Amino acid sequence: MRTSDRPTLLRDLKNYLTFLKSYGYTDIPLESKSPLSTDSRKTDGTHPLNESIQHQSDMAKQTPVKKSTVPTLENIRSELGDCTRCKLSSGRKTIVFGSGNPRADLVFVGEGPGKDEDEQGFPFVGRAGKKLTEIIENGMNLRREQDTYICNIVKCRPPGNRDPKEEEISACKPFLVKQLQAIQPLAIVALGKPAASTLLGRNVPITKERGTWHEFEGIPLMLTFHPAYLLRFYTLENRRAVMDDMNKVLKKLKG
Ligand code: URA
Repeated sequence: MRTSDRPTLLRDLKNYLTFLKSYGYTDIPLESKSPLSTDSRKTDGTHPLNESIQHQSDMAKQTPVKKSTVPTLENIRSELGDCTRCKLSSGRKTIVFGSGNPRADLVFVGEGPGKDEDEQGFPFVGRAGKKLTEIIENGMNLRREQDTYICNIVKCRPPGNRDPKEEEISACKPFLVKQLQAIQPLAIVALGKPAASTLLGRNVPITKERGTWHEFEGIPLMLTFHPAYLLRFYTLENRRAVMDDMNKVLKKLKG
């Protein structure tokens, strides 16, 4: 380690320990490698977790069948077009399709764009988005844009941030399904009840079922609280619950 790296390392260490403390940890979790242990980040900026899981996903992604039969994210975005399939189109500024790595091993699925997302065209860029980014980057030691893909069950903002209606979800779900089929991640995280219920096709009591593994078309699916819920009910218990769920996800990604 170069001496000049030390202040950055110490700042990262402080941030990480502060984060752990605020999520209820009294010791350093050993299952997921500390982002600050000397060998956890290579000098080229890659994460060892990504390397090990990259191999598996590359193997899966090399299969010619998938390439020839599954549309790419660009194909799916083109098919969506200037969508008017449901009434949400009349109030939206922008279609928020998704963002991140199209070959990500981990996909987060939220509910629908809010005001900030509608204005900027990207998912989870508002207050809840900052919380999600904190969880991904500080809590999981992943890089949001490079290591994950993030999208929603509906691509247009519901007016006044109300829950999306059944018919709006039904109109948009085929595009979400195609996105997941195109990415073929090693794991999916459903953020909150609407995402969990949409992906599982049933009414999911999220408080009861968060932290448990399910499957979406053969892909492991973890259910957890939506970051907006976490912000609203910012208890140590809820923060700890979300981090426990994310540690399960990291363990799954490591195989
Ligand atoms: N909440 C969501 O569910 N999705 C977003 O993109 C932003 C906030």
